[in-house]
Amino acid sequence: MSLDLNSATGMFLGLAIGDAMGSPIEFEKPRPRDNYIRRYQSGGFHSVSKGEFTDDTSMALAMADALIESQKTNGYPFDGHMIMNNFLDWRYNGKFSPREKCFDVGLTVNGALWKYKEDKTTPFTGCTHYKSAGNGGLMRLAPVLIVAKNKSEAIYLARESTRLTHGAEEALMYSEIFAEEVWDGRILPQYVDYRHPLDIDRDDVSSGGYVKETFQAAWWAYQTTDSFENCIIEAINLGDDADTVGAVAGMIAGRMYGFDAIPKWMVEGLQWSEHLIDVSKKLVLLN
Ligand SMILES: [Mg+2]
Repeated sequence: MSLDLNSATGMFLGLAIGDAMGSPIEFEKPRPRDNYIRRYQSGGFHSVSKGEFTDDTSMALAMADALIESQKTNGYPFDGHMIMNNFLDWRYNGKFSPREKCFDVGLTVNGALWKYKEDKTTPFTGCTHYKSAGNGGLMRLAPVLIVAKNKSEAIYLARESTRLTHGAEEALMYSEIFAEEVWDGRILPQYVDYRHPLDIDRDDVSSGGYVKETFQAAWWAYQTTDSFENCIIEAINLGDDADTVGAVAGMIAGRMYGFDAIPKWMVEGLQWSEHLIDVSKKLVLLN
């Protein structure tokens, strides 16, 4: 059984909403609870406009487009070359981005795309050094989890899609765990040690670009709140890599609570929201 439309659309929109809510406070310090950002804002490091998403969502859209195209031409959604060529189209031509320009790209992604541009022998150009275990593969997992036909395929596609730009074993491992739990729609007891204890002090929840930090911060935000909206707000206000922690928390909360539980203002204030809903539907039709 694949993910249903409500969970799938919730997960994809959750990614984009967390990204767009978090990007204005990317690289900031954690905000005190009485001064939380609770709405879409403009500004920040990348001078985003209200409801504008960044690389996290653009790369997910680039991947989704390739999955849909590959299903049409190859009869199977995953084609690493098609995805990487779409990533290049985003990186160098600004496709899949409301600004029509790539303005936010992680170092590891940038290195992998440059390598692929120079030599297209293999699409799996992600650096394998253990210090390169960033969150750039984890942040864009929604599309492959939607098209997967069963749990083992979800785990396999999570690994393969991550490996395109992130080859470090730790990055692959967190993508696989994420795929398994999101697929099941519940927290699995065997992975309890990969998360923060729930009584952790908020000051001890780091939210940087290291995949482990992003994974832990996103699950912590989900586990310590009781709604989609509060999960996003808790996640982004940790600051630092706020957009990507928001995107990962948004995927979790969107999948768990479903699209129907996302407040209207969060969907309506998001740029390209109609398009994102449409793409989610197309992906669901592939599974
Ligand atoms: Mg970003």
